[in-house]
Amino acid sequence: MLRYLVNFIFPPRCAGCAIRLPIDAANRVCARCIAEIERLKEPLCEVCGIPMVAGGAWCERCAAAPPHFSRARAITIYGDGGDDAGGVVGSIIRRHKYGLDQSLSRALAECLGARLPLDDRDYDVVIPVPLHRGRLRWRGFNQAAMLGAVVARRIARPLDAATLTRVRATPPQTARNRRERRENMRGAFTVRRPARIANHSVLLVDDVMTTGATADECARMLIRAGARRVDVLTLARVL
Ligand SMILES: [Zn+2]
Ligand SMILES: [Zn+2]
Repeated sequence: MLRYLVNFIFPPRCAGCAIRLPIDAANRVCARCIAEIERLKEPLCEVCGIPMVAGGAWCERCAAAPPHFSRARAITIYGDGGDDAGGVVGSIIRRHKYGLDQSLSRALAECLGARLPLDDRDYDVVIPVPLHRGRLRWRGFNQAAMLGAVVARRIARPLDAATLTRVRATPPQTARNRRERRENMRGAFTVRRPARIANHSVLLVDDVMTTGATADECARMLIRAGARRVDVLTLARVL
């Protein structure tokens, strides 16, 4: 009843395409947008999760320089730039970046789909990739933390947004090659109170993964601090 009243005053619109939703809609994303989300399909690199031509192995990059995380998976493909990048999810992410609509976390939860692409592996804790405080203020909130909260609720595990912290803002990653990106991230993160993650299996969550340099550096620090395993889940993967 309350939802009906709220929806009557603020007619609900799809968070992806902005089409009007039925006045009694329980979802934030329309069925057509959900169906249009471009999922990553097997075969994928066993480690970093990029699509491969042939299956069952590691991609060249992972074979040449294995990352510190055990496995990275994404919900959808982001595409490469432009206003249409990422399709439905890209549209929602952009609204997260430039708008401050916290209700969109519900839309993100709907985008995750019925099953997370993690082979039902269990984790002890969900940790979001932290933003530097300066950027956190500028954006108003950390969308990785928001997504982390959504994922933690989904798998019924605690969210820990305090143990892994960012101690240094990093220059923009664009126009850098893979090696430069890795070096650029060095020393950007630190683990406070390592005892909290000792021997833990960690699910690291971020909104978008590009080269994986950020996730790799976070995983490096978490493993060094005593985590047993780090897997990565991002909403989108830039290919
Ligand atoms: Zn829609
Ligand atoms: Zn790979």
